[in-house]
Amino acid sequence: MQHIGIVGGGIIGLSTAYYLREAGYAVTVFDQTVLADGCSYGNAGMIVPSHIVPLAQPGMIAKGLRWMLQPTSPFYVKPRLNADLIRWGWLFYKHSTNEHVQYSIPALRDISLLSKTMYQQLAQTMDFGWHERGLLMLYQTAAAEHELQHEADLANQSGIEARMLDQKQVQALEPDAEVTVHGAVYYPGDAHVTPRRVMETLIADLKSKGVQFLENHRVEGFAMNGSRVTAIRAGGEQYPVDEVVIAGGAWSPEVVKSLQLNLPLQGGKGYSFLLKDQSPQVRVPAIMLEARATATPMGQDLRIAGTMEINGTDLSVNMKRVQGISQSIQRYYPGIRVDLPAREVVWKGLRPCSPDGLPYIGRIPAYQNVTLATGHGMMGLSLGPGTGKLVSEIITGQSLSMDVAAFRPSRFQ
Ligand SMILES: Cc1cc2nc3c(=O)[nH]c(=O)nc-3n(C[C@H](O)[C@H](O)[C@H](O)COP(=O)(O)OP(=O)(O)OC[C@H]3O[C@@H](n4cnc5c(N)ncnc54)[C@H](O)[C@@H]3O)c2cc1C
Repeated sequence: MQHIGIVGGGIIGLSTAYYLREAGYAVTVFDQTVLADGCSYGNAGMIVPSHIVPLAQPGMIAKGLRWMLQPTSPFYVKPRLNADLIRWGWLFYKHSTNEHVQYSIPALRDISLLSKTMYQQLAQTMDFGWHERGLLMLYQTAAAEHELQHEADLANQSGIEARMLDQKQVQALEPDAEVTVHGAVYYPGDAHVTPRRVMETLIADLKSKGVQFLENHRVEGFAMNGSRVTAIRAGGEQYPVDEVVIAGGAWSPEVVKSLQLNLPLQGGKGYSFLLKDQSPQVRVPAIMLEARATATPMGQDLRIAGTMEINGTDLSVNMKRVQGISQSIQRYYPGIRVDLPAREVVWKGLRPCSPDGLPYIGRIPAYQNVTLATGHGMMGLSLGPGTGKLVSEIITGQSLSMDVAAFRPSRFQ
């Protein structure tokens, strides 16, 4: 039996392990941590085929610069004289165009829809809180309405249903919780899950099928023979492999450095916290556009999340920004009481952000048996199963479920 080593046990690594195990491979997942609380666990849980416009888009740079001046704002780039950050910023700037948005839409739509189908299949046998209630993009200002109307038009043109709702129609979708908005775009095709349950269910399923997990095993490098990786080096040991998949999230650039790939990727830090036993209850997951914060019902609880700090792999908590998130909720849901959470209970995670807003999925150029799967930014949970399926198709040599040319890892080399 051929043996695959997967670097990284986040949602991308686990989904990849799932489809490769299904395809009959022996699989080992290496992770530098104990799998319990990484970026794939505490996120907002939204499954978002609605997100077809990449983060690199016209107007984003100007908006980002304005936000950077406010300590409670939802976006921040820590200024650093760092060559990787400067390269990333330049590439982000170059891709913030209408042409890039048009180029990205079909690829993001196809992988999102593929991934949603995979989740629907998984949800038939696994219980991880799968709900298809759509997504509300709430807005309070005319400027936000303008921006969202444009995105809704793009979505409808590309086959993703989007409906503009007025305040009354929004309230009708939320019979219990009062919503203070001018209106919203409703994406009925979106869904949500409880991410921790997705991760724990997948890990249990994979273990029951014989997938090996090596936690606290940081991958330090690879043994090579010509253009093939023959073993993974971790914890002072060598583990022979036939194929390697790198799904190291925000740390992936370090992992691929020794494989002749200079990967532009930055960690985009975000925070979340849980409001326990909520009453009144929010029914439909929502993004509060002006605040760039999110609210997702998870059982009786409501998860609040937000901010994007481009800050390398630093995981410290900036309470000013957490305050920015918590203060914004009551502006949209006045009946929900939100106290500033204590620093210790604030969850933080690093989104692996590529500069063009598209993931990296595919073989890396210099090696025949290394596949990269990362860079999913704000959408890694959504795109996990679709990515896992595509990686398994690449490795088994099956025909691909979609064209992955836009995701090729070597596009910036
Ligand atoms: C606040 C917030 C809200 C979000 N909301 C959503 C949402 O609603 N919907 C959505 O789709 N996405 C959301 N995301 C994004 C999503 O969480 C990420 O895109 C996703 O978790 C990335 O998964 P990953 O597997 O690529 O990386 P990770 O989950 O970070 O996993 C990578 C793993 O690789 C391991 N690793 C790295 N280097 C090594 C090494 N050298 N050796 C061994 N192991 C290594 C790490 O320890 C880690 O466990 C959100 C993110 C944040 C921060």
